Amino acid sequence: MGDRWMELADRVWVRRCEELDLSLGLVVGDDCCLVVDTGVDAEHGHDFATSIRELTPLPWQIAYTHDHFDHWFGTSAFGESAIWAAADGARYIGAGDAQRKTWAAKYRREGREEAARRIERSRLVPPNRRVAGSIGLNLGGRTVVLRQVGPAHSDNDMAVEVPDAGVLFAGDLLENGAPPAYGDAFPYHWPQAVEPLLSWRPKAVVPGHGDPADYRWARSRVRDMAEVARLCGEVARGLISADEAAENAPFDSETMRTAIERGRLLSSPPLPSPVPEPPARADSAQAPWAPVHVYDATDCIVDADGE
Ligand SMILES: [Zn+2]
Repeated sequence: MGDRWMELADRVWVRRCEELDLSLGLVVGDDCCLVVDTGVDAEHGHDFATSIRELTPLPWQIAYTHDHFDHWFGTSAFGESAIWAAADGARYIGAGDAQRKTWAAKYRREGREEAARRIERSRLVPPNRRVAGSIGLNLGGRTVVLRQVGPAHSDNDMAVEVPDAGVLFAGDLLENGAPPAYGDAFPYHWPQAVEPLLSWRPKAVVPGHGDPADYRWARSRVRDMAEVARLCGEVARGLISADEAAENAPFDSETMRTAIERGRLLSSPPLPSPVPEPPARADSAQAPWAPVHVYDATDCIVDADGE
């Protein structure tokens, strides 16, 4: 089979990958293209970069949806580029080194020596453009929005919106075909962090893993994650046991137990905080809320010290 392209909208592609059922993204403008995540290791990233060159010769920039290794260990094949993320480079390198050890050991336990070596060989390329809040990135004739989200699936999630095509790249904020991964997550905050991303009713939602889906699917996912948060809260208050929560959870019991454990680590459930409302605009309920700053991608040239 191998990895394959899906064209979701005009010049918006998703690379569906065999490894970890990953979904990587590509958004092409008139002057530049934006690559959303780069794959699980350097060799995978090389294949991905090569496949992008089948679609466009334009210079690329990269957006990392978060610091989990499978989304950014493929970057070394892309050479010097601007790399946007919601956490800084030092944070990425620290997290990447730890995950490399953990995953190489896991692959070896599973008898996947070659996968372990590939991950160990991958040179880590940290982001050099920090996104705080939201920014617009003009790729030439089309502006994408990079939006810091959360804490939610991790403490450094970032979504990529393509308003003119109605596409939302959600990273692991939404996974399709697998339960949400709560290992580094913030179960109480997660659903309300994703909610505003859906306020503009994107036509297509690209999860970090699994097939692209639609707005209704994303909504039902958020509802299920809100139910997980509610159950975590009931366990924390002693109203039900962890077993009862696992029995009644919308996902498998291991997922629910991981969420409860994370909820415990993060102390008591917070009071519900108001979901940030998009500014009221009479003209377009269908557009994402506009970012404050819009950069021309062609102006974002990477220099030696990365800033
Ligand atoms: Zn993740």
